[in-house]
Amino acid sequence: MLSSFYDPLLDSNPGTGLPYPESYWAQGISPWSAPALSGEQQTEVAVIGGGYTGLSCAWHLASQHGIQPTVLEANQIGWGCSGRNGGFVLNGTGRLSFSQIESKWGEQSAQAVYAEYRQAIDTVSALIEVGSIPCEPVYGGYLKIAHNRQSVEELKQQATLMRNKFGDPLRFISAQELEQNFLHSPQAHGALHYPYSFGLHPLKLAQGYANMARQAGASIHPQSPVIQIRPEGNKIRLLTPSGSLLANKLVIASNGYTPNQFHSAVDKRHFPVLSSIIVTSPLSAAQLEASGLKSGLMAMDTRTLKYYYRLLPDNRLLFGGRGAIRGKDANHPVYKKRLLKVLIQTLPALDGIQAEYFWSGWVSVSLDDYPRICQADDEGRVFYAMGYCGSGVSFASQAGKRLAQRVAGDLNLPALPFMQSPLPTFPIAQFRRLGLWAFYHLGRFRDGLL
Ligand SMILES: Cc1cc2nc3c(=O)[nH]c(=O)nc-3n(C[C@H](O)[C@H](O)[C@H](O)COP(=O)(O)OP(=O)(O)OC[C@H]3O[C@@H](n4cnc5c(N)ncnc54)[C@H](O)[C@@H]3O)c2cc1C
Repeated sequence: MLSSFYDPLLDSNPGTGLPYPESYWAQGISPWSAPALSGEQQTEVAVIGGGYTGLSCAWHLASQHGIQPTVLEANQIGWGCSGRNGGFVLNGTGRLSFSQIESKWGEQSAQAVYAEYRQAIDTVSALIEVGSIPCEPVYGGYLKIAHNRQSVEELKQQATLMRNKFGDPLRFISAQELEQNFLHSPQAHGALHYPYSFGLHPLKLAQGYANMARQAGASIHPQSPVIQIRPEGNKIRLLTPSGSLLANKLVIASNGYTPNQFHSAVDKRHFPVLSSIIVTSPLSAAQLEASGLKSGLMAMDTRTLKYYYRLLPDNRLLFGGRGAIRGKDANHPVYKKRLLKVLIQTLPALDGIQAEYFWSGWVSVSLDDYPRICQADDEGRVFYAMGYCGSGVSFASQAGKRLAQRVAGDLNLPALPFMQSPLPTFPIAQFRRLGLWAFYHLGRFRDGLL
């Protein structure tokens, strides 16, 4: 029996044909229309999950490798994170900084990872162009804002490393320049500006990827949760409530929404964590003036428990951060109130503003803070990509491309740490939520919010 908000650690599947959540992005958007899987079908490659990873994989398989896959999505296209995120197209994924990446794997791998992250942004831009996707891109870059004075030095060091090692065009912005050109906030002591990042409408991007994949020859079935996966000879049979699919190969692209006991390749190898967003009423001209927010501003802060915000094209402010721990608490008003409180602390000129939308989604966190794009078995039948730790608009699109290459046996892949090993198993998986609770308390204590 499903609780009202799907919980991957407790429920056996995400549901069947559930509507989009009542998010800002879903307003006025019809579900992407296609029939559920029915009867007995066969395919070369079955892809589970209709988000960016699964859809990008499907498009790349069909358009670049001559393989026509079948995508099975439990609910609607982009029903998971891909239709619920903040729409920040960022340079990176996971939670490791470039200096951590360098000390873990050495300079050559750090260069390869940097190149991959930048290519991921280009992949999103290329797909938007090829598919003429009307996902309302907003250019102008993104700010990583030092929320206190101590973080300023860290940002300056990061800027030096990024410029010198990788030739990154980012630049440090002083508190005065922030005040003059970007926003008025007592919690903005300096920032890094990443000029190549951009914002978009995430759900329109997901539906655009689905159109492209279908046009290229993929079969896509929403309302088709996979409720059982079992081997059949050297093939794999997937069962949904209304049909069954026999596949030569399987791609698991269900990410943070992957049910707890789903497939041995992914079970206990990630931790679904809730991230939540509020969107305010449109800012008046006076509120825009008082907050100093400039059109298209996209920012994230340097707190342990990071907050991110974005001025949307209709002058509403999107503000996101951590959510509840359990699915059944996801919609509790306390989390909406908490986001609104931090928003006001960040931008005091907006005191009194209302949050008109509030929603949450499950991101997939890996034990060692970086994702995998993985072939899970020796035979080359089962593949997955997950563990993006909440940063996946660009990386999921790129991971789909890399998954397609792996599935097609393309050996022309860069030697990236993400592809060298499977996701590690959480040692005492049943206590993951207790660990998160402790982490949140420590984080709130460090961030001075307790
Ligand atoms: C609130 C929030 C804000 C975020 N903001 C940003 C951001 O601004 N920038 C950024 O880079 N990243 C952001 N992210 C993360 C980003 O959205 C994800 O990393 C990315 O969308 C993952 O895409 P995906 O295709 O791998 O997974 P998803 O989009 O989550 O898709 C997985 C799909 O699998 C389906 N599924 C699961 N189980 C089954 C089954 N048994 N059968 C069939 N289908 C199944 C689900 O229904 C779901 O639709 C945010 C995430 C959240 C929740």
